[in-house]
Amino acid sequence: MRIVFLGPPGAGKGTQAVETCESLRIPHISTGNLLREEMAKGSRLGKTAKGYIEKGQLVPDGLVVDIVAKTIKSASFRKGYLLDGFPRNLSQARALDKVQSVAGLPGLDLVVYFDVPDRAVVPRLTGRRVCRKCGMNYHVSRDRETVTGVCGKCGGEIYHRSDDTKETVVNRLRVYHQQTAPLLQHYRRLGLLVSVRAERDIGAVSREVGGVIRRMAGSAAHAAVRRPARVRMALPGKKQARQR
Ligand code: ADP
Ligand code: ADP
Ligand code: ZN
Repeated sequence: MRIVFLGPPGAGKGTQAVETCESLRIPHISTGNLLREEMAKGSRLGKTAKGYIEKGQLVPDGLVVDIVAKTIKSASFRKGYLLDGFPRNLSQARALDKVQSVAGLPGLDLVVYFDVPDRAVVPRLTGRRVCRKCGMNYHVSRDRETVTGVCGKCGGEIYHRSDDTKETVVNRLRVYHQQTAPLLQHYRRLGLLVSVRAERDIGAVSREVGGVIRRMAGSAAHAAVRRPARVRMALPGKKQARQR
């Protein structure tokens, strides 16, 4: 399956991606994590990205699309993936379609929209702490790891992202509403969008996301079984129509 998690910063996309990717056995592609890895390596891309990330602006489309294209072309991504934080505007959405079709991959199966108001995400973001090694998310109000400073999953160091400050968060939300929110209409028109009520606690959101994924996986399996028969039946008719 090819899934996009869409929603404002702090909506819980990264948190929910862990469980979804484990249950579907597909890799998680977080463009934020990929960009932070480049920053940590001190690569040219990382140095360029840093300036944008710290101001809460989007990194230029070309750079982000390049990273995603390289990632999804590799063999371990052929069976599917979950994109978290990408696409973030219409031009990235169109670039994704192109990258998938050039790579001979099917299009997206599902876009899950994490519906949550701005007032709920501000405290989530300012209290968020992240593992430097594996990208796992924690919160100061809930997770012991934010006190011990050690990631429960991989033993990596927990840190406070420099863009998770009140000022930058306000800017990121503005960018989200201006540039990313129009994608809701785009994917709704394509019939790919399903909303989840993401203001509730992690367990409730997780159950709703799980239900959406199960329904989609069920209908995808159903379509895969039926598709060959339908194609075989449709082709002769089409050919005849063209010959006439
Ligand atoms: P996103 O990837 O959408 O930016 P995260 O998954 O990183 O969001 O979540 C942001 C912060 O909010 C993290 O500290 C996470 O632990 C916390 N969080 C995630 N989901 C919920 C939830 N449903 N309720 C409360 N806090 C949450
Ligand atoms: P969050 O889920 O909290 O918004 P991310 O980790 O997804 O945070 O992104 C952090 C920052 O990385 C963004 O504010 C932006 O500067 C940059 N970034 C991540 N993904 C993209 C993208 N698809 N296009 C442009 N910039 C991106
Ligand atoms: Zn970790």
